[in-house]
Amino acid sequence: MKTIDLRSDTVTQPTAAMRAAMAAAPVGDDVYGEDPTVRKLEQRLASELGFEHGLFVPSGTQSNLIALLAHCQRGDEFLVGMEAHSYKYEGGGAAVLGSIQPQPVSNEDDGSLSLATLEKMVKPDDAHFARTRLLALENTWQGRVLPADYVIRATQWARSRGLSTHLDGARLFNAAIASGVPPRDLVAGFDTVSVCLSKGLGAPVGSVLLGAQAQIASGRRWRKMLGGGMRQSGILAAAGLHALDNHVERLADDHARAARLAAGLRAIPAVEVQACHTNMVFIRVPTERLRELDRSLTEAGVRASIGYLPSVRLVTHLDIDDAAIDHAIAAFVRFFA
Ligand SMILES: *Cc1c(COP(=O)(O)O)cnc(C)c1O
Repeated sequence: MKTIDLRSDTVTQPTAAMRAAMAAAPVGDDVYGEDPTVRKLEQRLASELGFEHGLFVPSGTQSNLIALLAHCQRGDEFLVGMEAHSYKYEGGGAAVLGSIQPQPVSNEDDGSLSLATLEKMVKPDDAHFARTRLLALENTWQGRVLPADYVIRATQWARSRGLSTHLDGARLFNAAIASGVPPRDLVAGFDTVSVCLSKGLGAPVGSVLLGAQAQIASGRRWRKMLGGGMRQSGILAAAGLHALDNHVERLADDHARAARLAAGLRAIPAVEVQACHTNMVFIRVPTERLRELDRSLTEAGVRASIGYLPSVRLVTHLDIDDAAIDHAIAAFVRFFA
């Protein structure tokens, strides 16, 4: 029996067509800047999203870290959501490796950071304080699309305060498909943007950092120092190009399946569906039953993300079809019957 793995959209297997594209990719040594497929991917995303340059990196974590290192010096700080990936789930890399201080701010329910709070967090130019340098946002955040008007106000506010802006757009294309807003418009106010190819887009590896010449040139140095300079990485970039050609529009299917999963779970009295946005469903079940639920689902061939958050997280993706959703709902129904 094939496992129905709803833990994350990172668990996808490369499709046969993606593997064929990878096998056929022309490659070169990318540390010398000689991999044509990597260049093609970097240039394609840069022009699609309206930036001068792109930088192909092994992971979203490294992409965010490189952006922070490119924007901030030792003793600078960045404003970031308390529940943002780049603050909470990246090992404190900016502080550990960059001597950059995070200034976390509580996320509102819609993922935004209150501009009034951010305003209070900007430190005066005084030797007591770290130098506030950057605002970092995330879109989608826990599957939610940030309100478009908020993104405009937040990036304008940052500019007015002399701050740079970075967007963790790991799931930018989910935001674009769900909102109907072209990805280019979603990132218009940002100095740098990180996009993951290995989440809903279904590539095995890789993220791209987009920005202006100066940030990407600096980023290229940091990437090498962090061990992210890869050689014939066109093999991997080819998977990203294939994903951009074939797996963007279909994200709508993931979103529809997440909605159907949420509807099925809502019918179970013991399950509280807290949120369903884009390809993510968050539910709450009685805490004392979590361990038992995990075991029962695993036996039924269903995996969910249990234990990281107070909620159970279920994520749809390329390898989840309608039958898998039905099977997952049935497994929950049986457990709570
Ligand atoms: C997954 C993720 C990252 C990090 O990507 P990795 O490739 O796992 O390092 C960064 N930000 C967000 C919002 C993510 O979901």
